[in-house]
Amino acid sequence: MRKWLAAILCVCALSAMLEARGKKEEDRREAEQEATRENAGSAPGFALPGECIPVWFTVSDSDSSAQARLTARDGRLVARAAAFSLDDGRMLALLAVSTFAEAGDYVIHGDIDRHGVTQFSFMVPCTIGIKSFFEEIIDLDRRNTGIRTDTSPERLAQIDRLNEILFARNPVVEPFTGPYKPPVASQRRTAQFGDRRTFRHADGKKSATIHHGIDFGIPSGTPVYAAGDGSVVLSEYRISTGYTIIIEHLSGVYSLYYHLDRLSADTGEYVRTGTLIGESGSTGLSTGPHLHWEFRVNGVSVSPDWFLSWGADNPE
Ligand SMILES: [Zn+2]
Repeated sequence: MRKWLAAILCVCALSAMLEARGKKEEDRREAEQEATRENAGSAPGFALPGECIPVWFTVSDSDSSAQARLTARDGRLVARAAAFSLDDGRMLALLAVSTFAEAGDYVIHGDIDRHGVTQFSFMVPCTIGIKSFFEEIIDLDRRNTGIRTDTSPERLAQIDRLNEILFARNPVVEPFTGPYKPPVASQRRTAQFGDRRTFRHADGKKSATIHHGIDFGIPSGTPVYAAGDGSVVLSEYRISTGYTIIIEHLSGVYSLYYHLDRLSADTGEYVRTGTLIGESGSTGLSTGPHLHWEFRVNGVSVSPDWFLSWGADNPE
């Protein structure tokens, strides 16, 4: 009887010891995961409509992938972005906040996956502030009305192709996170990013649109420079935007230059910040000489001013 009791006590002690060791191991693993989680990602807690939210990920190996989501308080998905790798080993996802986003409290979610299985997740509360945009009415003459209402297969094909480019996320060989520079020396802005526009057509009809970039009022023939390093993915004449250049700087991140008189960079060319890419003009749908300068992130237009200030602080 005593032997049995000794054996039972022995088993109990052993299992208590094993349990303690298991608990310690669990604690160690948890602490390790916690530490990794703390360094796994970061994101800012505030943004305005028409801005980007940069979500940074620290990943341990090249098999990892990462993505970010922005959700409203009711769980509604507002924006999502896959992360791309940078030269320093970190990954970055740029969440584009539409100019239509409502002010309020949101949550940024970051997920790091390995072989399709989520390894770490983090959440950062984020407030979207209030921003109002200008409203303006623009009268279109017969020529501009003709362009605005052009439904020719050629124009429709050009629009499809533009969307195809802007929504594409190519792996970028040399990702460029800044600093970005303005494409012209002039500070004279004749239209702002996000302006709510009503076009009054020559026949009295109206149509509404958003101004997706900034207009610089400059004489035709003014040199236009690349806002950042990147690959020219389009350099051609388009019915709506005239002579047009598009540069890809990061995976899914593009700067656009419209209404040029002359193109000085070819599709496929790699340009640096400040490379001459063309001369300004008034080609396409335009009411006077100017440069239209725009940024797109995963297809969504983002304020060029956000890129100017973000690039200046980078890397975080
Ligand atoms: Zn414009």
